[in-house]
Amino acid sequence: MSTAIPKTMKAIQVEKIGGPEVNVMRQVPVPQPKDDELLIKVEWTGANYIDNYRRSGLYKLDLPFMQGQDVVGTVVQLPKTTNPSTVLGELKIGQRVWSPVGSSFAEYAVAPWWKAAPLPDGVDPRDGVSMCTVALTAMALVRYSYAVKKGDYILVRAAAGGVGLVLCQLGKYLGAHVIATTSTEAKAKLAKENGAEAVLLTSASSEDNVEEILRLSEGRGVHAVFDGVGADTWEENFKVMRTNGTIVTFGNASGPVPPFSPLKLSPKCLKVTRPTLFPFIATPEDFAKLAKDMTDIVAQGAIKFAVHKEYPFTEEGVQQTQIDITGRGTTGKLLIHVS
Ligand code: NDP
Repeated sequence: MSTAIPKTMKAIQVEKIGGPEVNVMRQVPVPQPKDDELLIKVEWTGANYIDNYRRSGLYKLDLPFMQGQDVVGTVVQLPKTTNPSTVLGELKIGQRVWSPVGSSFAEYAVAPWWKAAPLPDGVDPRDGVSMCTVALTAMALVRYSYAVKKGDYILVRAAAGGVGLVLCQLGKYLGAHVIATTSTEAKAKLAKENGAEAVLLTSASSEDNVEEILRLSEGRGVHAVFDGVGADTWEENFKVMRTNGTIVTFGNASGPVPPFSPLKLSPKCLKVTRPTLFPFIATPEDFAKLAKDMTDIVAQGAIKFAVHKEYPFTEEGVQQTQIDITGRGTTGKLLIHVS
């Protein structure tokens, strides 16, 4: 069975480095899947902070490039050379799938056959968008970057954001004491509702927050900090770690962390890791393992996804996601409704 696939499609492209306005809608060829790839008709995609790093030039890509890395949609073409079946399920034409693949601000997207999975029964397609980057990233951080254990004290920065809210829930699910930081009372309330035991406001003085984090963590500091804020929270992290703790720095919302000497780690024998999601899901086995881990936890109801807002799939809609997420006014996931 085949579905009529057009020759061209609408897609958001970045043709020069700059502000949100450099995201422009173009009519481009529908991508041609390789023999081992699927073609997906995109229904929903979502904004991620990384969209801003790419179009502002912090992360360097060859121009022009297409934006986006979350896909929820329907399989319209199967791979020619493979039977697309993994522990996550079998893929068929017409099947609704979720997939963390790039160039997703478009009407069609291609994915390696093994990097797409059937949307589990009972999961809203809009929640499938959060599973792609946000939840897989949080899952990788608490399993591989620092393996969170029962009784650990962990600190989650930007706790009401897309990744932050899932980290709070995963921390609680794993039995850790979750301490969080965020910028407003409303965000603090949300972080608490999602598993944080204590939430501190970044408007308080750093000295006060350090003192409170140490008090909350047996006077010894946290076992790990999960920090997507970057520059602004970097120095404070060193003051709230316990001996042999792990600083997981996974983003640059306030700017990248500065270069530093390993000697900076020695007073507390600290570890620093700077993970990104994609190496953790670079093979069929690795993707299937992490995705199954995450979807099993979702199926238990231990992770719920928050949506900030649904945006239209227009030039203005996509630009607005980037204005909003960098403006610090968002919580949870920013969705883009493609079709
Ligand atoms: P968020 O929804 O968390 O939005 C970013 C948040 O960062 C803001 O809401 C704000 O929270 C906080 N923030 C602190 N300082 C600033 C600032 N100067 N400007 C803007 N925001 C600031 O985004 P995502 O969930 O998409 O991503 C969170 C972080 O995780 C990002 O740094 C992102 O790059 C990173 N990430 C990394 C991945 C990886 O593979 N390494 C994958 C996915 C995300 P508050 O107001 O509470 O301070």
